[in-house]
Amino acid sequence: MQQNEYRQLVERLNHYSKLYYTLDAPEISDFEYDGLMQQLKAAEAEHPEWVTADSPTQRIGDAIYTTFEKVTHTVQMGSLQDVFSEEELWAFHERCLAFTPVPAYTVEPKIDGLSVSLEYRDGLLVRGSTRGNGLIGEDVTLNLLTITDIPKKLTRPLPYLEVRGEVYMPLSVFKELVTQQLENEEEPFKNPRNAAAGGLRQKDPKVTAERKLSIFVFNVQQIEGETISTHAGSLDLLKELGFKVIPSYPVYTDFQKVVDEIRSINARRGENDFDIDGAVVKINDLSLREQIGSTVKFPRWAVAFKYPPEEKETVLRDIEIQVGRTGALTPTAVFDSITLAGTSVSRATLHNQDFITEKGICIGDTLLVRKAGEIIPEVLKVVRHGENPVPYQIPDTCPVCGSKTVRDPDEAVIRCINPACPATRKRSIVHFASRNAMDIEGLGPAMVDLLVDNGLVQNCADLYELKPEQLTGFEGVGELSAGNLIQAIAESKNRGLARLLFGLGIRNVGEKAAQLIARHYGSADALMELTVDDLWTKKGGSVIAGVGQVIAESLVESFSQPEFRAQIEQLRKNGVKLTEEKAETGDRLTGKTFVITGTLPSMSRKEAQTLIEQNGGKVTASVSKKTSFLLAGEDAGSKLQKAQDLGIPVMSEAELMQMIGSETDR
Ligand code: NAD
Repeated sequence: MQQNEYRQLVERLNHYSKLYYTLDAPEISDFEYDGLMQQLKAAEAEHPEWVTADSPTQRIGDAIYTTFEKVTHTVQMGSLQDVFSEEELWAFHERCLAFTPVPAYTVEPKIDGLSVSLEYRDGLLVRGSTRGNGLIGEDVTLNLLTITDIPKKLTRPLPYLEVRGEVYMPLSVFKELVTQQLENEEEPFKNPRNAAAGGLRQKDPKVTAERKLSIFVFNVQQIEGETISTHAGSLDLLKELGFKVIPSYPVYTDFQKVVDEIRSINARRGENDFDIDGAVVKINDLSLREQIGSTVKFPRWAVAFKYPPEEKETVLRDIEIQVGRTGALTPTAVFDSITLAGTSVSRATLHNQDFITEKGICIGDTLLVRKAGEIIPEVLKVVRHGENPVPYQIPDTCPVCGSKTVRDPDEAVIRCINPACPATRKRSIVHFASRNAMDIEGLGPAMVDLLVDNGLVQNCADLYELKPEQLTGFEGVGELSAGNLIQAIAESKNRGLARLLFGLGIRNVGEKAAQLIARHYGSADALMELTVDDLWTKKGGSVIAGVGQVIAESLVESFSQPEFRAQIEQLRKNGVKLTEEKAETGDRLTGKTFVITGTLPSMSRKEAQTLIEQNGGKVTASVSKKTSFLLAGEDAGSKLQKAQDLGIPVMSEAELMQMIGSETDR
């Protein structure tokens, strides 16, 4: 990883972390977040000099709220070190063996909620606070008082006690609330953890009470009036004092039993009315913990084992067909709601007919679904058929306009090819207005429905002919929002050819290809004249690196359609910019010979070659004394060795860019 990529990763993780901790609205799954964190940790282990204070590895949680009084934690509320494999578990055991020949461990489920501290004086609850950044949290006593599982008075009046627990939303409550939210057409909670975290930070404790939160207590932070020497003993004491303690914490000295228990907690997961995101292994003996110590972020005497993504069975109730902007009919499975990776899921894409046929999917089947890597759930297989299974076939008519659908023999996709199909038209306009295309604020699916259904707009170019007075009068569209929309449409005129090309939704022409094409040819007029041979030939391959035969054919095909050309003319008439600054070419690399090896961070080797050639350089296949530079990416092999042996300078992609961007003496 290069340093700039490392910085980007820090920023990306900080963004996710803020959404997760501060706004209770995660954008990616924990699994994906953990994967990115691992990459970050690996980069920091290799380059400790890169680490800055803003790295998410250097802090616990995220920003502290100002809504509540701040609480300084006398005993830090640390995080836990994550491990993802049994090998890493054994390595943890090895580290503990350095302190004692037979360490005893507790194994506990890791509850997926949010951490709180509860303080009792003379047996009475006096304060409850959130973890915050581990050192300073927020006083949420009034909200915690609404949780019936939290004892307000202990069975014995100890002079002082501080415990730590995990507040969570029971899955049964989560399901009930989400059902209600859907019925009321409200945005449903993303997952139980966020629903709990949001609930605890309500200004009005009545709202917290409605969330019916619960708690599992899992640690004694400070105690007066009792002596404790083991963790399990302290949890037994907490039970006696009236706390709802984590459901299991067996003690083992045989580490294989620890590993078995971790597997078993995972296997029992489906029986719980709470979500877990792992299991925690802790040294049981408290004085041994002292010896082993902690880092600034987490104790060295414990690890959290994170389970791989969950898989669950559910019954397929229906298959819905959506018509996309290219007319593609996409089937979506609608099944009984399940919770995966802490989020309730009831839909997953079935991709296309081949996918359905291959898996033998019939409505009524029991499916196995998981959520891996991404936040998007996927159907793994049919576990068993329901009664009278009928293999599902995507209908041969468009569910929106009723015209016959077709399947291109080379493609898996079934399409509606009616150019007047309202579904296709609407989707095209929504895409045209999207952020990476023409970025027209306020032009989302609902507004597009309104415009198309009322005959105000037929295609993307029509948008530029809209008048504010045509919009007012529709329900929910006032003068102000109509004016804003017209203004946003007008502002989009100058986005340039690359974004326009992408926005026009030409098949196979994605954002990157649109940019490459626009920057190479510079104007829509130049594109009007193109033939496929100008872009791609069998013998010579691509003219623009990254633009192959399929893209070339689609582009030329679109520009040959009279309606498409008419739309371009309409855009021109309305003042939409149809040009793009051409990519710079130069002679900065004249006389220089390059060899390229390894994986470059942002471009393919072919693209790097075009870039070098555009700047007057030459690219050869093997390193020799005549080579001026070796351009090396990750996993460079023998060529790198050879270049080093011959004393040939090695450069990174960033250095190449710099060289092209500025004059050089070499
Ligand atoms: P953590 O939540 O993984 O582990 C520490 C916490 O575990 C403690 O605060 C404690 O409250 C809790 N816990 C539950 N049961 C416990 C038990 N039996 N014993 C001890 N502790 C127990 O660590 P973290 O640093 O707070 O958060 C990282 C987590 O947050 C990761 O799982 C990460 O995936 C997730 N996260 C996700 C996103 C996202 O965008 N999806 C963003 C940031 C963080």
